[in-house]
Amino acid sequence: MKILLQNLTKKFPGRGKKSTEEVIAVNDFTFEIPDGKLIGLLGPSGCGKSTALNLICGLQKPTAGKIFFGEDDVTDLPPEHRGVGLVFQSYALYPHLTVLKNITFPLENLRGADRLTKEEMEKRALEAAKLVQLEGLMDRKPSELSGGQQQRVAIARALVKTPRVLLLDEPLSNLDARLRLQTREEIRRIQRQTGVTTVFVTHDQEEAMSISDMIVVMKEGVVQQIGKPQEVYDQPVNLFVAKFLGTPPINVFQGKVSGGQLHIGDEVLLSLSDVPDQEVIVGIRPEGFILREDGPLSCDLTRVEVMGRDVSVVSTHPCSENPSIRSIINAENTVDPDAEKVRFALNPRKLYLFHPRTGERIPFTAG
Ligand code: ADP
Ligand code: MG
Repeated sequence: MKILLQNLTKKFPGRGKKSTEEVIAVNDFTFEIPDGKLIGLLGPSGCGKSTALNLICGLQKPTAGKIFFGEDDVTDLPPEHRGVGLVFQSYALYPHLTVLKNITFPLENLRGADRLTKEEMEKRALEAAKLVQLEGLMDRKPSELSGGQQQRVAIARALVKTPRVLLLDEPLSNLDARLRLQTREEIRRIQRQTGVTTVFVTHDQEEAMSISDMIVVMKEGVVQQIGKPQEVYDQPVNLFVAKFLGTPPINVFQGKVSGGQLHIGDEVLLSLSDVPDQEVIVGIRPEGFILREDGPLSCDLTRVEVMGRDVSVVSTHPCSENPSIRSIINAENTVDPDAEKVRFALNPRKLYLFHPRTGERIPFTAG
């Protein structure tokens, strides 16, 4: 089921004595979520992700705008009639009910023509449990399950009514690192298997990048960029997006374009065309540094961290905005850890220019 958001906006009135200013939690969202895809809604805490999800499921009413599921305008439809499955960070299972009863719970309230017999409910619950590989644990209580298993019960419960849309709000945040990885793979597999259109909310860029067909990067209620994870990583529209995606994060320098050359301090990094003389912010991805003895960028070496396949070189530079610069180089290159200086050439495809005031990306042609 394709989802269309049209000028979707949610404002909250200001509260308290000082904060009388209203908050625009979701500001004029207009985009389409294609049928059968998994979309990652990504942004820092407080940027409006949960509000956006609550609008899609109907738990909150928009201040303005419309929501369509396929051709249906669902804007005024209550949540129980939208056909959505919901999973939250807290699993919200009923502690006194077994796994089976927790999963059949949403089916118990079906009335009229939709009403199911006990056998039908159990059959459906077992199908949902099989999807999340819980069929052997149907008689347990939530307290007898690991966190990952509890979250899988919550996912089975969300799937049991075969929803048109599956909505997940930070579903992995309560799990430890290993289970988080495993459960996110599970979610991806279940999504592929069922083909249910899914919106996955997270503040964790790596999580969103790894499982989404498409990511929507948000900041303060405003969509910054929408695209395939790799496209957004490779072609960020602004400094916020460039900084938000990638580990280690992009390295940021103060620079200047003058006479067709990019300067950082006294050093000339690149020749470039199409950019008039101006101050710029220079962003360089960790993998954009190339170790070279006669490279134009000279940094003060702090330390070298060997990480198996790659080597992470930590250094400093007076024009760097970050206290330290992190570059990732192939382990076949050797760096003398006792050297004072390390010099780099730069891969122009991993280097970006941004406007110092607006943060907008400035396109350029290298060479
Ligand atoms: P996220 O899920 O990205 O962390 P939220 O959608 O929860 O962000 O919140 C977005 C903004 O809206 C925040 O500034 C938050 O304080 C505000 N907000 C959320 N819910 C309410 C509410 N019920 N009343 C007032 N402000 C709210
Ligand atoms: Mg939230």
